[in-house]
Amino acid sequence: MPDDALKEQVKEATDIVAVIGQFITLRKRGNNHIGLCPFHTEKTPSFNVHGDRGFFHCFGCGKGGDVFTFLMEHEGWTFPEALKYCADRAGIRLPERSHDDDAQGKRRQEVYDALALADEVYRRALFATSGKVALDYLKNRGFKEETLRRIGIGYAPPPFDTLTKTARARGLRTQPFLSAGLMLESKQGDQPYDRFRHRVTFPIHNLSGKVVGFGARTISPDDQPKYLNSPETEVYHKGRILYGLWTAREAIRKADRAFVVEGYLDWLTMVEFGVDNVVAVSGTAFTIDQAALLGRFCKRMTLIFDADSAGQRATLRGIDIAFNAGIGVDLAVLPAGDDPDTYLRREGRARFDELVAKAPGIIEYRVNMARSGSAPFDFLAKERLAKEFVELANKIQDQTRRTAFLSEVAERIGLPQGQLKVETPAIRPTAPVPRARQSAYDGSRQLQEAQLLRLIVEDRDCALTAKNELLSSDFMFRIHRPMFDSLIRSVDRGEVKASPTELGTSPEEVAEWARILVLPMDINAARAGFIKTVRSLIARRVRTRQGSDYKRQFDDGGIDAEARARLLGEHGQQLRSSFADNRKPKPSTSEPEEPDTAD
Ligand SMILES: [Zn+2]
Repeated sequence: MPDDALKEQVKEATDIVAVIGQFITLRKRGNNHIGLCPFHTEKTPSFNVHGDRGFFHCFGCGKGGDVFTFLMEHEGWTFPEALKYCADRAGIRLPERSHDDDAQGKRRQEVYDALALADEVYRRALFATSGKVALDYLKNRGFKEETLRRIGIGYAPPPFDTLTKTARARGLRTQPFLSAGLMLESKQGDQPYDRFRHRVTFPIHNLSGKVVGFGARTISPDDQPKYLNSPETEVYHKGRILYGLWTAREAIRKADRAFVVEGYLDWLTMVEFGVDNVVAVSGTAFTIDQAALLGRFCKRMTLIFDADSAGQRATLRGIDIAFNAGIGVDLAVLPAGDDPDTYLRREGRARFDELVAKAPGIIEYRVNMARSGSAPFDFLAKERLAKEFVELANKIQDQTRRTAFLSEVAERIGLPQGQLKVETPAIRPTAPVPRARQSAYDGSRQLQEAQLLRLIVEDRDCALTAKNELLSSDFMFRIHRPMFDSLIRSVDRGEVKASPTELGTSPEEVAEWARILVLPMDINAARAGFIKTVRSLIARRVRTRQGSDYKRQFDDGGIDAEARARLLGEHGQQLRSSFADNRKPKPSTSEPEEPDTAD
């Protein structure tokens, strides 16, 4: 089918590691890449991406598939959207019709297009004559033109119909602009009008690099509110986007640390001063999703906030969240009256670096605050603080980290070690117990079958031998039987299947294939042992059959005791010789998981 061919062409031209690497940090391990799964919460990576085979699989939650599946699951896109995204990346032109039967994807694409057009209009306006007032404002605040251009800062001109006119001139419908939150419906029922007017605009990108909304700051002191933001739309979910992450993620990855500030301008100043690993929370409190998002790119974050108590409270709320995402948190407190913008401009980068280098961790910070407060740091104060920390510790899922955390608390507060204990059992991880362990295949028998299936996938000769010599009932593990059957059917049809989703016909099978395909094994050595394995399976079949033949005769009431004794002797002889022919690997101490016949 041409559509399948197109899909394959795009898939082949797409580097799945690069695409998924945009959303999480992947590290190379052997032939694969691993990272923290974006679909469930975990602290040790069980999310595998197989670049050469073009699929991903998570041993923690079982999610898996190809690059399209990833984009659909992660970004909530339809298949045509995912296809188009990859095709665009690879420079492959898709026929127009590919969007025809995808109303949702088509509508969303129009919303993205509207946002991209607005971005273009705003950016151009900042450097046009009409934008001089905005450009002067930004330059007076100390921003260089080069930074503004690089970040894509723009200007929404004063008229109510800048975008309306542009849309009309290009023959575009206004509905997508309304859906994108760029235009508002007029109460009089006339033309919709522009939301952002006479404001500096900060484009907000998602992790696939698309503009999903804008933050807009007033440039005249009379205009209220100071910041106007895009509303939540079907492409912009505030809690799940961190401002600036798209621009900053490489720097964050490299530094393994992120600075978190509270506004667009602070963010821009940091970037202007060469602090590139920075994101901003804007318009929302710090959410779990945002902390988890950051945790995909670094292990440490430094919250920078001003000394006024509102700022402290607002930011402290995010701390237990970050803790649970497995991120270390430092707090850099600026002098009273300062924000990152004023501080950097007055004190300079070197002083700023000193300040953040000395930023205390959460425990030190809280203890310092209690010590420097007006109340004495006595037994009661210590008890209160200890209680607060134990509550925080209750939320830490990882036991080692929890213990380390509490021992630091005890040390800093000045309590004997071991006195602090979590009050309730730590919350169990939301994810199932890591299934990664299962990939080791406890039973040697199970491993043998898995390796056999792997060889049939990898090697044409082995596949043909298996097809001629083996039966699905030769497999002891029930799940391997249908897997073998459908594999042999596709061998028959000459199909080449290589990924778990292509090979498996149920989620369980897909998961098992994913385990088998990443099994660490020396294919050449395994190939050499292939025939031996096949022989041992056949011998086992014969044994079982003979066994049941003997059993049938034995159970036959017609035979006498002497005949029975002879039968037993014969059977024993046969068993011994068949074992001698096919010396089995030493029996494993652990029982196979799922044997349905006893040897
Ligand atoms: Zn997962």
